Amino acid sequence: MQRTIGLIGGMSWESTAIYYKEINEIVRQRRGGLASADILLRSVDFNYIVTLQNAGDWTQAAAYLAGIARQLVDAGANCILICTNTMHVIADIVAAELSVPFIHIIDVTAAALLAASYKRPLLLGTRYTMEQPFYGDRLRQRFGLSPVIPAEDERSRINDVIFDELCRGALSDLSRHEVVDIIAHGRTRGADAVILGCTEIGLLIGPQHSELPVFDSARLHARAAADFAEGKLSLGVVSRSSGR
Ligand code: GLU
Repeated sequence: MQRTIGLIGGMSWESTAIYYKEINEIVRQRRGGLASADILLRSVDFNYIVTLQNAGDWTQAAAYLAGIARQLVDAGANCILICTNTMHVIADIVAAELSVPFIHIIDVTAAALLAASYKRPLLLGTRYTMEQPFYGDRLRQRFGLSPVIPAEDERSRINDVIFDELCRGALSDLSRHEVVDIIAHGRTRGADAVILGCTEIGLLIGPQHSELPVFDSARLHARAAADFAEGKLSLGVVSRSSGR
């Protein structure tokens, strides 16, 4: 029997669709035939989340997502994932309330970097992800990584691309070139890999565009969910974040 995966998505739904497809594809590849994943998905109204982000109301955001996580567990979820990097700013609060494992996107991504022996990843994501301590500090303190943060003008541009384009389903060649240039600049500053630390960036940038190895947080997180469903996820990644 597979375990049931609980996804909190919709932030934005453009990237939650990647999770849904990726998890199911992995399960089908592994199990063959008509096999598919056992998933409970709660997809929220992203407008509401962005209102809370803009207001800096992380307390309300944490209460809201923790409530949804509990509902998913009550409905039968055996693990919980929040399908966005940014909202991991309140992940510890959500995880602490759960009786099932919480699969943390930063831990999964960091574990993949370490397994491939990279140490100085360029961190691409929203302003919250690139500027607030929850992401960089976790990479540094728990995993010994030394993230490279884009310059101010680069952070501003990436944030606009995420919210004004990717979360609205718009892909632009111009923006892709700009992000490719930001990666090239990161390399000159000593970066040895790139974290696509926003679940939508993989829609724009793939390994073929980047002169540095790419670690796509959405795909790594989705793979970890599929691994968990089959009892194959290394316990380190789960136990670090599970509340009980
Ligand atoms: N999905 C994005 C992320 O991974 C941004 C959306 C959000 O602000 O939650 O950070």
